[in-house]
Amino acid sequence: MKKIIIANWKMNPSSAKEAERILNGVKKTAVRLKKTQVVICPPFIYLNNLKKIIGKSANLSLGAQNAFWEVEGAFTGEVSPEMIRNYGGSYVILGHSERRALGETDEIVSKKTLTCLKTGLKTVVCIGEKIRDEQGDYLVFLRDEIRNSLNKIQKKFLKSVIIAYEPIWAIGKKDTEAMSPADIHEMAIYIKKILSEIYGQESALAVPILYGGSVGGGNAGNIIKSGGVDGLLVGHQSLKPENFSEILMSAENF
Ligand code: PEP
Repeated sequence: MKKIIIANWKMNPSSAKEAERILNGVKKTAVRLKKTQVVICPPFIYLNNLKKIIGKSANLSLGAQNAFWEVEGAFTGEVSPEMIRNYGGSYVILGHSERRALGETDEIVSKKTLTCLKTGLKTVVCIGEKIRDEQGDYLVFLRDEIRNSLNKIQKKFLKSVIIAYEPIWAIGKKDTEAMSPADIHEMAIYIKKILSEIYGQESALAVPILYGGSVGGGNAGNIIKSGGVDGLLVGHQSLKPENFSEILMSAENF
């Protein structure tokens, strides 16, 4: 299975010109990769422009950072999964902790996930605990978050689901402050166990598990090598083409 490296640009950059500059920088490295799938998730508004730069590059794709659960209608300000597809997106990130902090519940994530999967988008469902307590309550929290966020998802859709484990306490820091590869490995196994309880082992083991939280050039290689994950979700470092390219090369050469 190819490693999947996803760039979450969040609400950046401020202009289409800058978005094009970043993507052109990343593309130089991305098109040379053989074992790595690169997914760029810019703000919706840049998708159409960036689609033209991506062209037919097989290992470089576009995605969105959110989508609505209805197909069309009177939902002011929302963007449907179909619109994302028509604008060149083949992936979508759902349930990011920054959206959950704005009020997005597991129920909402589950509804959005179902519509996105029905539309044919590869759907990245984000999970992650706020803190790590010594009693291990975070494990119960994660179990419930996985179960509830996938509540509406039948087994037949699972092949297009990707889980991104992003411990909130590890997001937006220096790469020396990310979770350790050993702890990431433990969590990847735990997430597969929870998925196995819901969908059975065979289907569960095929779901890619990504890690996100302060990934940079300095730690990407070790996380891929020893973290037991199938890829990475990268935030602030994905806006710097050289740094992101370094992460891509680590995934390619691990
Ligand atoms: C994120 O918010 O999805 C993320 C991984 O951020 P960062 O890489 O900046 O920690």
